[in-house]
Amino acid sequence: MSKAILVLNAGSSSIKCTIFDAVDTTLTVRYQGQIEGIGTQPHFKMTDQAGAVLFETTWANPSSGKGHAYALEQLAAWLDPRLPEAGLLGIGHRVVHGGAHYSAPVVIDQVVLHDLHGFIPLAPLHQPANLAGIEATMAFLPGVPNVGCFDTAFHRTHPIEADRFALPYAFYDEGVRRYGFHGLSYEYIARTLPELDPDLAQGRVVVAHLGNGASMCALKAGRSVDSTMGFTALDGLPMGTRCGQIDPGVLLYLMQARGMDASAIQDLLYKKSGFLGMSGVSSDMRNLEASDDPRAAEAIAYFVYRIIRETGALASVLGGLDGIIFTAGIGENVYRIRERVCRGLAWLGVEFDPVANAHHGPRISTATSAVSAWVVPTNEERMIALHTIAALTEA
Ligand code: ADP
Repeated sequence: MSKAILVLNAGSSSIKCTIFDAVDTTLTVRYQGQIEGIGTQPHFKMTDQAGAVLFETTWANPSSGKGHAYALEQLAAWLDPRLPEAGLLGIGHRVVHGGAHYSAPVVIDQVVLHDLHGFIPLAPLHQPANLAGIEATMAFLPGVPNVGCFDTAFHRTHPIEADRFALPYAFYDEGVRRYGFHGLSYEYIARTLPELDPDLAQGRVVVAHLGNGASMCALKAGRSVDSTMGFTALDGLPMGTRCGQIDPGVLLYLMQARGMDASAIQDLLYKKSGFLGMSGVSSDMRNLEASDDPRAAEAIAYFVYRIIRETGALASVLGGLDGIIFTAGIGENVYRIRERVCRGLAWLGVEFDPVANAHHGPRISTATSAVSAWVVPTNEERMIALHTIAALTEA
């Protein structure tokens, strides 16, 4: 029988939503949409499965107090008359942090919700928005089960060396560990790989998830063995507004010499750094590419440099490399960045195919390349829907 799954990805400035029709594990999009620009100029748009716009509106900026709660109310009001006819099996939520405990999706009850609130200090910008989404659906759809799907869960297979910092052990016990993020995206890619190239799926693969948030993951036979993100989603590659890897001594300097407190440093590292901070132009790759400002070019060059550097590190961890995969907004669309990265990895055995790259692959290395390179679109929403079905039918 056909059932619907609502997938909610409530982030710090956007809420994305997809309603899937599910026949067993075959998923078809019924509606999808998002509210973007929460905190600035919220814009709400819903489309049908063919992409036709069903509803679109913009409302006043948050000086009128219209933040996340208002956005969720608007979404609920649009969904309300459309959901009962669909027969809702459950609601799947993206949750950035599941701590060390949650290594798989979980049906959310009050105990789980309480635990997830405990992880807010570990992901102060994302976790509160995720939990607001869960609490909103519990209120407006009572009786429909909610399933939490964690960005950290896929990385719980890391060996201890990839999970630790060189700090006194007590900090590790307290939860100061390298969790890794973007796990739903990596899991989706790992599931897709056997269809693309069954041998590669069993091999040593680096996946570069290059979006507003960006990270990389080392997969061995489809399991995560290391990732560039660590304790928080700040580490590793530079991102739209996040700094990526930074010497912790810089933070001491900011505190001691510049008198900055924790909230000023948090604001700097999460919201004012990365492409935006380096370029002074924009956090958005489209704007950086269109800009004549040399600092925009420098920000792109630094991004490419760090991807190449991290690929070398992850390939070492894997004991060699069989393939590299590009995904997410930049990875799927910006062929110039893929080209620069692949050319920088020629020494590792990537033989780049510029024609295939211009067409976005899927394979962007030559047939004789020792290390294959690919463009694989990610789909975190679909991964969440599959987890939600599994969690509810196994429960
Ligand atoms: P997130 O889901 O983390 O918000 P996305 O995966 O949507 O982010 O990626 C957003 C990034 O991808 C932005 O920097 C955006 O400029 C870039 N991007 C998306 N599409 C294109 C495109 N066609 N050309 C250039 N950049 C693009």
